[in-house]
Order: sequence, then structure tokens, then C-alpha cells
Amino acid sequence: MSSVVQLEYVGDLAPYDEETAALAEVGAELTVVRAADGDALVEAARDANVIWVEWTPHLTRDVLERLPKLGLAIRWGVGYEQIDVAAATELGIAVANAPAYCTEDVAEHALALLLAVSRQVVYRDRQGQQGLWRHGPAQQRRLAGSTVGVVGLGRIGRHVAHVAGAFGATVLGYDPVVTSTDPAVRQVSFEELLAASDFVSVHVPLTDGTRHLFDTDTLALMRPHATLVNTSRGGVVSQAALVEALDAGRLGAAALDVFEQEPLPADNPLRGRANVILTPHEGANSPQSGRDLRRAVYGATVEWLTTGWTDAIVNPSIRPHARGVR
Ligand code: NAD
Repeated sequence: MSSVVQLEYVGDLAPYDEETAALAEVGAELTVVRAADGDALVEAARDANVIWVEWTPHLTRDVLERLPKLGLAIRWGVGYEQIDVAAATELGIAVANAPAYCTEDVAEHALALLLAVSRQVVYRDRQGQQGLWRHGPAQQRRLAGSTVGVVGLGRIGRHVAHVAGAFGATVLGYDPVVTSTDPAVRQVSFEELLAASDFVSVHVPLTDGTRHLFDTDTLALMRPHATLVNTSRGGVVSQAALVEALDAGRLGAAALDVFEQEPLPADNPLRGRANVILTPHEGANSPQSGRDLRRAVYGATVEWLTTGWTDAIVNPSIRPHARGVR
């Protein structure tokens, strides 16, 4: 019998009936493990053929080297920075994710944040709740006719670009790899996008190349009234540089779903600002995405256990020396 280990407790999915039934059909057993650190993980998952990881513990090189039976590590989500892919590739371990379970959700969340800033929804709601009528000057900003810059033209970025275009915005896009086929998106350099956009929405993975892509220098290229929307990963934006730019009035507003430190600490300087909207990493969530995520994860696992491969694998170069089920 193959062993599949789910790290952590994903509250509303327990007791994992759907996963357990799907795995049982291919002779695999699911064990749910809470591990405080890498050592505890190795102890609990020593015989695992497959591990599903949500947030922690990270599958570091040290941890992966001590899991001799592991053939497939799946990130329970889109980003997979929790897994050392280079180490896994060297060891012949396949790494996979659930690439498309929440594309529309995160895109809609980014657009909701963008519109909440442009129409001052949160600010005006506070006034409405307090009974303040037509209070203060109108500082809403029309999205139609504005310029929206989309950084990262993958699944989510492309959806954001498409909908922003439908609102009548001019859409600029930057991606060093992907060429957009959407005629509404004009692909430009990163610097050009920053200098021309009224709204910048970020949709890149967190990698060594994108960590602090938004720092003091790049934030300084943005227009002083511009809004930065980040629903990708907190580490893509330097929080210190962002706070500095907001304090100095060099950036108009920020709307953030992701943070360098999560949960956002109580004394975080991004809190309590009229021009900053914070949502607690909720961009992906909906009943539909929850259903699609679990099906994607156990579906890829069943496929891998029965055929030795799945299209969800993000390091396909391992194929000739993939460990498979041991
Ligand atoms: P994707 O892989 O389809 O697209 C990412 C794109 O970013 C790719 O086209 C890639 O070429 C591009 N890219 C890489 N480096 C870049 C750079 N330096 N500048 C510009 N573009 C660059 O991923 P996706 O499904 O669109 O998701 C984007 C990110 O959103 C994920 O990596 C994940 O971190 C994040 N995400 C967040 C949530 C949430 O709950 N807020 C949920 C899902 C995904």
C-alpha cells in the first residue's frame, strides 16, 4: 500500500473523506500529520511516497534528503516556495502544485481591491456606517480611461488584464517570459509600466528573481498618486520600502492580500492607514476554489500513483531519473 501524508490540518476539509476514498481506490492510504519542524516531519513521514504541504514545515534540502521513499511532493496551492525544487530535482523527487484552482478568485480579488481603492469603497463605507453624509472631497478615481499595469501575465495576471480592459482601462503588461495574445494588453518594459500606470497589480511567483521586485528604486518609478495591488506573495514587495514611499507621499495607496510576515503582526506599520487596504490572504478563497483545490491535489496524486506522472509536475526534467513509487 502506498503512503500519502498530508501535512497540517486543513480545518474545513477534515476528515478528508473524499481524499481517503479516492486514494483507497488506487491502494493508497492517507495520514494527516501535524509536524512542528523538519525533524518531526521526517519522523512522521519517513515512509511517505507522497507528501502534501500547505504552509509548514518547509520541505528543505535537509528534510528531502532524509525522506528516501518520497517520490512526489505537492504544494496544496499555486505557489510552491515551501519546497526546495532544486534539491528535489537533484534527488529525483517530483514537485507539483495545483496551478489553476483559484485563478478567477485571485483575479477577482485583485480587481475588487483595485475598485475598492478607485471608488474609495472601504473609506466611504466607514463614513456610511457612522452616518456621515457626503463627507469630505470626492477623491474617487474613474477606472475607465485609467492605466492599469499588470506585472506577471500568467493565469491570474491575464484574467486581471482582460477584465480591467473590459472596464475601459488602458492595460499595460510586463512579463519576461510570456507574450500576451490579448490585443487589449500592450506589453512594455517593467520600468515603462511603472512610470505610466495609475494602478499596478502584481501576479508573479516568489522566487530569488522576484523577491523585493518592488523596492525603494522601483517604487520610486511609480506615479505619486498610483496604487499598488499585491495578491501574489508578500516577499515580492519590500514592506519597508512600501511604508517609506507611502509616508513620503511618493505612492498614493496600496491594497494588499499578502505580506512578508503572515499573519500580519499587530504593530505592523501598514495598519491603520486610510490609503491602505489589507485583506488577510483571502484572495483564493471560495467554495468553488476549495472544491477545485482538493480535486486537483488528490487527482494529481492518483494519476502519479497509477501512471508514474502528472502534468501538475513543475520540475519535468526529473523524468529520466524520477524516483517513482518505492
Ligand atoms: P502563473 O505561473 O500562471 O504566472 C506567473 C507569471 O509571472 C508567469 O507568466 C511568469 O513568467 C511571470 N513572472 C515571473 N517572474 C516575473 C517577473 N520578474 N516580472 C514579471 N513577470 C514575471 O501563476 P498565477 O496562477 O498567475 O499566480 C501568480 C501568483 O499568485 C502565484 O505565483 C502565487 O504566488 C500567487 N497566488 C496568490 C494567491 C492568494 O491567495 N493571494 C492564490 C494563488 C496564487
